[in-house]
Order: sequence, then structure tokens, then C-alpha cells
Amino acid sequence: MDDGSFHVSYGWPLTPMRVCETVMKTLQPDILIVGAGIAGAAVAAGLRRRGYSVVHLEASTQPLDTARGDHLGPRVVETLAEWDILDAFFAAGAEKRLGAKWLTPEGDVIMHSSMDDLPIPHPYYVVLNHDLIAITALDLAINESNYDYTLFRPVAARDIATGADVHGGVSEVNITTPEGEAVCIKPRMTIACDGRSSKIRAACDFQIVHSYDYEKPFVVLFGPRGELQDPRNEINSYMSPNGSVGRIPRMGGQWKIGMAINKEDIGRWRATTSEERKALLGERAPALGEMETEVAGFYPVIRRETDRWTQGTTVLLGDACHTIHPARGQGMNFGIRCAARLFEFLPEPSEMTDSALVAKRLADYEAAVKPLTDAQLIENHERGLHMDSTGPERIRAEIPMLRAIAADPEVNFRYRMTMAGYPDRLDPT
Ligand SMILES: Cc1cc2nc3c(=O)[nH]c(=O)nc-3n(C[C@H](O)[C@H](O)[C@H](O)COP(=O)(O)OP(=O)(O)OC[C@H]3O[C@@H](n4cnc5c(N)ncnc54)[C@H](O)[C@@H]3O)c2cc1C
Repeated sequence: MDDGSFHVSYGWPLTPMRVCETVMKTLQPDILIVGAGIAGAAVAAGLRRRGYSVVHLEASTQPLDTARGDHLGPRVVETLAEWDILDAFFAAGAEKRLGAKWLTPEGDVIMHSSMDDLPIPHPYYVVLNHDLIAITALDLAINESNYDYTLFRPVAARDIATGADVHGGVSEVNITTPEGEAVCIKPRMTIACDGRSSKIRAACDFQIVHSYDYEKPFVVLFGPRGELQDPRNEINSYMSPNGSVGRIPRMGGQWKIGMAINKEDIGRWRATTSEERKALLGERAPALGEMETEVAGFYPVIRRETDRWTQGTTVLLGDACHTIHPARGQGMNFGIRCAARLFEFLPEPSEMTDSALVAKRLADYEAAVKPLTDAQLIENHERGLHMDSTGPERIRAEIPMLRAIAADPEVNFRYRMTMAGYPDRLDPT
């Protein structure tokens, strides 16, 4: 898949027709997916047995950055099982994570949040490296027999037209395939999964209504593979007055450290030796002061949320409509959860030629799902602001709050169900 150029075609004929003075081949798929990050790859795999014809564009030949999100929450795991993807993730090396702990910098437990005793179908997180999530999902789409699926890679959607016939959505995308062939794509519906700088978002004139550049960037450090000896694979969050630090399991007994740092310290962190990183980590949490690490990446953190998610027959998904602070590990999870809801609203494949119906169903999806997600995005932003404001006062406020959640079984249950992605199932009876 990473051989530089990639074009898989299953199925329908390319029809010559005249577009904009040029003789081009035309594709008229039921659904055009733009972008094959986590959201786009999951959508491609999730649609593979639903009878739609699908064209998929991905601009890059590179695998996704492995240091980004790699924990899929229980609600998303339920979706993956329904889409018959979960077994492929385990075959690719995915592991279960059964909970999380909040600790003092010295390692004393403040709160333990377990998942495995919750009354839900899959009471665990799935841990799979970021790049493997997308590769595994795309492989399922590519290898599904009878799936009318074409992936063009590397091909960026750039020449994008919108039109009244699709109610202001994407009417045409003109591309040149890796083989040099000019193709005009006239989708009946478009799912834009093209990330934080979405071109589809710009073409359809969606507006960014919430924009915030967080003060502190994130650094991710990797530990050695095979070192983590925790059968529960739990996240350890050390609540340090110098800034909280997460020790997060990855596949294969590896772990990573994720934490917010000062912008002006990026150069210093970049130049550190392993011994210097031990000292810096030790300043935050003595319990981590002996850990060997390598620097995996630095991430400026932003919030960008759009006014709407849909325009006629076009819908935004994932970071294209909500780029968020990674404080709660929800960006990728939101993308897949929204895709699952979106599928509930899609017209049947035989109805996809009715653009008014497609537009109406997308509007219905937005009306049903966006308000709930917006509320969660506000909470996520508050959490992001919280992480931006390191200091003893913040920790003084946070530790008693965590202890209170730990002490009250009902509050604890509600907290864990919400973290698992089930804020709608809080009644313990
Ligand atoms: C440090 C860090 C840690 C994180 N941790 C977590 C976590 O634990 N849990 C979690 O849920 N989330 C986490 N996130 C957030 C998560 O990684 C993102 O929300 C998620 O990966 C976004 O996926 P996406 O598919 O919407 O966008 P992207 O991953 O940005 O994918 C967009 C894709 O579209 C392609 N593309 C762009 N433009 C075009 C075009 N014009 N034509 C064709 N293709 C195009 C790009 O090449 C790319 O492949 C984290 C983020 C960071 C930075």
C-alpha cells in the first residue's frame, strides 16, 4: 500500500463524456469519501457491505503518524464489532485496555477507573497503533468481494465544484489518477474526512465558529517495546503541580508519555538526551524518573469547529468539522461514532439518485447528532483549557474532585459510563 502510487478498482465502467471543454472519463459513485485518515478509512470499511458504490481519494502515500491517538473507546468497539471490523483489529495486534488510574507524582493511587465491570457489550478499550487502525480498515474495504469500491491514492481533491442540483454540496471533483488519467467524479453524496485543513469544507463554504489555539503544545515520548508489564494495560495519569503526565500503553508492551509543555521548551526537549529526559520527567513525576524514552513528536493543539456539518449532499466528518484538544482522547473516537450515526440516516442505495432525499437525510443526521456532540466538544475544550493552565492551584482543585468521584459509587459509575461513550445509559438499574 505504501509503494508510492495506488489505484484499486472494483467494478464500474469509466464513461467518456465532455466536461469543461475536456474529454474526460466520468465516475458517478453513490458516495465519494475524501481522506483516508482514521475517519475516512473507518467509513470505507463500515460501508463495505451496504450496497453503495464508493470512490475514495487519499492525498498522501505515507502511513499515518503512529504517535497520534491509538485508544478506541468501548462505544466505538461496539460499532467496530457491528461492522465486523473488530476481529481484523485483533488480528493486526490490537490489545485490550481495562481502565485508567490517576496517581500522585510519587505513584499513590488517587482514583481508579475500571471498564471491565461496566454493564456494556465490550467493557474495554482497544489499543492499536494509529497507522494500523487506518491500514487495517482500508484493507478490509479493498479486499471485500462485491464492494463497488475504488481508492485513488495519492490523489488530492483540489478541483472541486459545488452546484444547485446537489443543494450546494459537492457536484464535481476533477482529478488526475496516479496513472495520469483525467477523471471527473460526480458524486451523489460526499463524505469529507479530509482533516483539519479540509478543502471540501472550504469549497462548500462551511464556517469555523469556534477557533482556539491552545497555549501549550503536546509532546509524545515512546518507551522501549516489551517493557510494560501490566495485564490490564491501564493508563497512568500522574497529577503533578508541574503539569500532569500520562503514561499510556501501546501495542506490544510499549508505552508512551503524553504531556503538555511550554512552547518555548520545544527546542530544549528536542535536543535532550535520554538522561536529560529522565530528569525532566522526574521533575513532573518522580515515579517516571527512571524511564528510557525517545521523542516521538510535538503537536501544536487547536480547536476548530464548524457552524454546520452538512451542505446539501455533502457531510463533514472527523477533524474536518471538529479538531479538538487531545486531553480526553476523543477526536478519532468522535469521528467513528458520528460515522455510525450517519449510516443510520443514509437512504437506500437505490434511492441515492434522489438528491433532495440525500440532502434531507443528511440534515436529519445533523439535527439528531450535532447538539449532543457539541455539548461534548464544549466539555473537551474546558478540559483542554484546564491542561493549558498548569500550576499548583489547578492540581489543588483537581485532586479532591477525583477523590470525590472515587468515593461515591453512583458518581463513579456515571463518570466511567460517560468515559466509555455511554452518557445515554447512566441508569445503573
Ligand atoms: C498527540 C495526539 C494524540 C491524540 N490522541 C487521541 C486519542 O487518544 N484518541 C482519539 O480519539 N483521538 C486522539 N487524537 C486525535 C485524533 O488523532 C484525530 O482526531 C483523528 O486522527 C482525526 O482523524 P481524521 O481522519 O478526521 O483526520 P486526519 O487524520 O487528519 O486524516 C485526514 C486525511 O485526509 C487526507 N487529505 C487531506 N486533504 C485531502 C484532499 N484534499 N484530498 C484527499 N485527501 C486529503 C490526509 O492526507 C489524511 O490522510 C490525538 C491527536 C493528537 C495530535
